[in-house]
Amino acid sequence: MDEKQHIHCLVDSCHYWSQGNMCQANEIMVTSDTFGSSQPEEVDAKRAKSLSPTPVDSCMETCCKTFISKDGETKVDGIQKMT
Ligand code: SF4
Repeated sequence: MDEKQHIHCLVDSCHYWSQGNMCQANEIMVTSDTFGSSQPEEVDAKRAKSLSPTPVDSCMETCCKTFISKDGETKVDGIQKMT
Protein backbone atom coordinates (compact mmCIF):
# COMPACT_ATOMS: atom_id res chain seq x y z
CA MET A 1 0.00 0.00 0.00
CA ASP A 2 1.27 3.45 -0.86
CA GLU A 3 1.25 5.38 2.39
CA LYS A 4 2.92 8.46 1.00
CA GLN A 5 0.88 11.60 1.47
CA HIS A 6 0.18 13.72 -1.56
CA ILE A 7 -0.47 17.42 -1.50
CA HIS A 8 -2.35 18.62 -4.54
CA CYS A 9 -1.93 22.28 -5.32
CA LEU A 10 -3.05 24.48 -8.19
CA VAL A 11 -0.67 27.35 -7.47
CA ASP A 12 1.67 26.85 -10.41
CA SER A 13 3.61 30.03 -9.75
CA CYS A 14 5.15 28.36 -6.67
CA HIS A 15 8.72 27.03 -6.67
CA TYR A 16 7.47 23.71 -5.23
CA TRP A 17 4.67 23.16 -7.74
CA SER A 18 5.02 20.30 -10.20
CA GLN A 19 3.24 18.72 -13.16
CA GLY A 20 -0.14 17.23 -12.36
CA ASN A 21 -0.77 19.94 -9.77
CA MET A 22 1.41 18.27 -7.18
CA CYS A 23 3.39 19.92 -4.39
CA GLN A 24 6.96 18.66 -4.24
CA ALA A 25 7.99 20.34 -1.00
CA ASN A 26 9.18 17.74 1.51
CA GLU A 27 6.98 19.48 4.08
CA ILE A 28 4.69 22.50 4.11
CA MET A 29 3.04 24.64 6.73
CA VAL A 30 -0.53 25.92 6.48
CA THR A 31 -1.57 28.70 8.81
CA SER A 32 -3.97 31.61 9.08
CA ASP A 33 -3.65 34.48 6.63
CA THR A 34 -3.12 36.81 9.58
CA PHE A 35 -0.21 34.85 11.04
CA GLY A 36 1.28 34.06 7.65
CA SER A 37 1.39 37.67 6.57
CA SER A 38 2.97 38.81 9.83
CA GLN A 39 5.92 36.39 9.80
CA PRO A 40 9.19 36.40 7.84
CA GLU A 41 10.08 33.69 5.30
CA GLU A 42 12.16 31.80 7.88
CA VAL A 43 9.04 30.91 9.85
CA ASP A 44 7.85 27.76 8.11
CA ALA A 45 7.39 24.01 8.53
CA LYS A 46 10.74 23.49 10.29
CA ARG A 47 9.48 25.60 13.18
CA ALA A 48 5.91 24.33 13.23
CA LYS A 49 6.33 22.23 16.39
CA SER A 50 7.23 25.29 18.43
CA LEU A 51 4.42 27.53 17.12
CA SER A 52 0.98 28.06 18.62
CA PRO A 53 -2.11 26.95 16.64
CA THR A 54 -3.81 29.65 14.54
CA PRO A 55 -7.54 28.80 14.32
CA VAL A 56 -9.75 30.21 11.55
CA ASP A 57 -13.41 29.84 10.54
CA SER A 58 -13.11 29.09 6.83
CA CYS A 59 -10.65 27.94 4.18
CA MET A 60 -10.61 31.50 2.88
CA GLU A 61 -8.64 32.51 5.96
CA THR A 62 -5.81 30.01 5.49
CA CYS A 63 -2.63 30.16 3.46
CA CYS A 64 0.30 27.99 2.56
CA LYS A 65 3.22 29.63 4.34
CA THR A 66 5.66 27.52 2.33
CA PHE A 67 4.76 29.20 -0.96
CA ILE A 68 7.66 30.94 -2.63
CA SER A 69 7.68 32.32 -6.13
CA LYS A 70 9.83 30.57 -8.72
CA ASP A 71 12.40 33.34 -8.62
CA GLY A 72 12.23 33.74 -4.85
CA GLU A 73 14.84 32.89 -2.21
CA THR A 74 14.21 29.22 -1.38
CA LYS A 75 16.99 28.50 1.10
CA VAL A 76 15.88 30.57 4.08
CA ASP A 77 13.26 28.21 5.53
CA GLY A 78 15.04 24.85 5.16
CA ILE A 79 12.34 23.29 2.99
CA GLN A 80 13.55 20.91 0.29
CA LYS A 81 12.07 20.31 -3.16
CA MET A 82 11.77 16.58 -3.76
CA THR A 83 12.69 15.21 -7.17
S1 SF4 B 1 4.46 24.92 -1.16
FE1 SF4 B 1 2.28 25.43 -0.88
S2 SF4 B 1 1.79 26.83 -2.57
FE2 SF4 B 1 3.71 25.79 -3.08
S3 SF4 B 1 3.13 24.02 -4.34
FE3 SF4 B 1 3.27 23.34 -2.20
S4 SF4 B 1 1.19 23.53 -1.36
FE4 SF4 B 1 1.30 24.76 -3.26
